[in-house]
Amino acid sequence: MSSCRLVTRTLAQQFAEQLAEATAPFQFALSTRAGTDCAAMLLRSMLDQDPDAVVVSIDGIGAYDHVSRAAIFHKLLANPHLRHLVPFVRMWYGQQSTYLWQDDAGQVRQVLQGEGVEQGDALAPALFALGIHDALDIASRQLQPDEFLIAFLDDVYVKTTRGRARAAFDTVTGCLRNHAHIDTNLGKCRMYGRREAAPPPDVPELGPDVWRSDKPAQERGLKILGTPVGSEEFIDTHLRARLQDQQLLLDRLVRMEDPQCAWLVLMFCASPRANHLLRTLPPEEAAGFAEGHDRQIWAALLILLGSPQLNGRTEQQARMIATLPRRHGGLGIQDATRRSPGAYWATWADGLHMLHLRRPREAAQLTALLEGQAMGRSGCVAAAEDAGRLLQGEGFRRPSWAALRAGARPARNTDPDDQGELGEWAHGWQFHACSQRNNLFRERVLLPALTPAGQAMLRSGSGPQAGAWLQAMPTCEGTRMKASIFQACLRRRLRLPLPLLHGTCGQISGHGCRNRIDVLGDHLAACPRTGLLGRRANPLERAWTRVTREGGARVAHKQLLRDTNVPLADPADQRQLDLVAYGVTPNGIALCCDATMVSPLTRQGQPIPRAAAHDGAALTRAEQRKRRTYPELLHSPFGRLVILACEVGGRWNADALRTVSDLAKHKSRGAPALLRPSARAAWHYRWWSLLSVAAQSALAATLLAEGDLALGGPTGDEEVPLGEVLEHAHLAPPASRLPLRA
Ligand SMILES: [Zn+2]
Repeated sequence: MSSCRLVTRTLAQQFAEQLAEATAPFQFALSTRAGTDCAAMLLRSMLDQDPDAVVVSIDGIGAYDHVSRAAIFHKLLANPHLRHLVPFVRMWYGQQSTYLWQDDAGQVRQVLQGEGVEQGDALAPALFALGIHDALDIASRQLQPDEFLIAFLDDVYVKTTRGRARAAFDTVTGCLRNHAHIDTNLGKCRMYGRREAAPPPDVPELGPDVWRSDKPAQERGLKILGTPVGSEEFIDTHLRARLQDQQLLLDRLVRMEDPQCAWLVLMFCASPRANHLLRTLPPEEAAGFAEGHDRQIWAALLILLGSPQLNGRTEQQARMIATLPRRHGGLGIQDATRRSPGAYWATWADGLHMLHLRRPREAAQLTALLEGQAMGRSGCVAAAEDAGRLLQGEGFRRPSWAALRAGARPARNTDPDDQGELGEWAHGWQFHACSQRNNLFRERVLLPALTPAGQAMLRSGSGPQAGAWLQAMPTCEGTRMKASIFQACLRRRLRLPLPLLHGTCGQISGHGCRNRIDVLGDHLAACPRTGLLGRRANPLERAWTRVTREGGARVAHKQLLRDTNVPLADPADQRQLDLVAYGVTPNGIALCCDATMVSPLTRQGQPIPRAAAHDGAALTRAEQRKRRTYPELLHSPFGRLVILACEVGGRWNADALRTVSDLAKHKSRGAPALLRPSARAAWHYRWWSLLSVAAQSALAATLLAEGDLALGGPTGDEEVPLGEVLEHAHLAPPASRLPLRA
């Protein structure tokens, strides 16, 4: 069964372009991620620009089960590219499908079905779209020049006028019935136009709920692919219901026993949920919803943090940090309010070209309005230009609307510090527009509000992989974080007080400088007198050993420099390397690794020189120190010094980043050619999860004086199957951009 799924998914991908072409210009659902937003944007703008325009929404009864198979095969055979799919599709849909059903008496009965496609089949959406294509095409030809229809799979929308609403409805539903065997569900059909007016005389007989433009304010509107369009009150009602829905998820989430799991659900599911509405609603309309969403998410996060008692200022700063991307020192929780203008502008930026390919006339009209070449820009169209101006005013370089209509795409981002993260879609305009806003917020609002120590720690928590532990899946011992540890790590990142057991340094262990300890853990993270620095180094070295071993190296743990091939002046040299990795460099040179974790703050809690204003100041200092310790490894043909350094906030140095990248590349060479890029990404994800979790857990465990340091599980001697690595890497889902469908 699963191999069948795999084949259908592969075919759906391989033929995506031809399938999209064969169902153009009506289908907005195939092979495009922005289709829903684009469809909603088009219909909404038609309503906003013309008070006489009416949108008719048509819902087929069991459309997937009834769509004509003959129509599907007819379309496949008529297309020279798609006919190659026929033998495969015939295996599933060439004869009657038999479904088994057990009735109340326990009797198994057969249900024969000779039409329709199956819900779980990856090809079904495309086959369905093919099956209704001719019906839509024939209907479309019978519409007036200023009318059109579009479809998102089985959701069909007709743009018409009040006077023509019934006739257009009859035309389209008639064609769906005659040419695709799909009947219309009158109970779900809706018609709406901006002008408040009684229904045209021939509409009421379709049912009392069909015409929406004369309903009380709260019901005056319709939902277009999950986006409410209508009166202020209608939109408000819908948005409030959405917030209530979301609260149900959050209420259950905070009751989960394991904060790491609860956090992952919060980050991957609850937080991105607002995105679809932010993309389709003008910022002004979305404002109340966005604020409500942000408030709900923060309240849930506070519970995951153990409900700390906070003063207003501390809480406000923590909340600001939380909403930064992980690569900028935050938790990667989306701030819907900050995101709203970027997301909304991006829908237009992403959608205009797509629209141009399907409805060139409307795309040209909208572009002229957006560019100010045509008069009368209003409603959602005006809001798109307003959002664009706002972004531009903040320094975002946006293309002209005409360029976007012609297909302008964002430049590929080459800054390694500014790449998208797991769960972010980096190819659309939204990533760029929102990144710009986040960067500006960090530089102009957050950093100036922080103390110098806070600034240094925000920088310390930034950079590639600095927040990898926040997206690590707890699938093995090395990536699972104990509740108290995980909570402490989150609090450290947000600069919130830790539940520390002691007031002065050394009070518990006996080793210490006897100075007062601060509740943020800064003193304990930096004081060399406690012995904690040595203790926390051990798990980190073990994690590096494991990773280099899994990467294919032969690794000697804690090797004396004199036991390597590097020639030394003194045969009794006492210097010891944390690990030496053999066999992973092209020229055979050994990697002499020194793993270290350093703090950008002194034990008095003050930033070390440069650390408040520059990234990685503590790393630079550590690297200089190590180079002085191992001068003979700087240019030796026998061994290369690799300084695997990280800061307490999570930032890694260039050597560490390069080492993991090289290992992933090396390791993936053993995978089948087709799998190599995924294998490389999966190993990369796995190893950064292991390293980042080891570093943060070890630090937190020493701060909390927890006896047993998590040592990160096995040592890497056992071969980890690629399948397992791939599977776990894919557990982290990309954020969904589809609306929730009831
Ligand atoms: Zn101390």
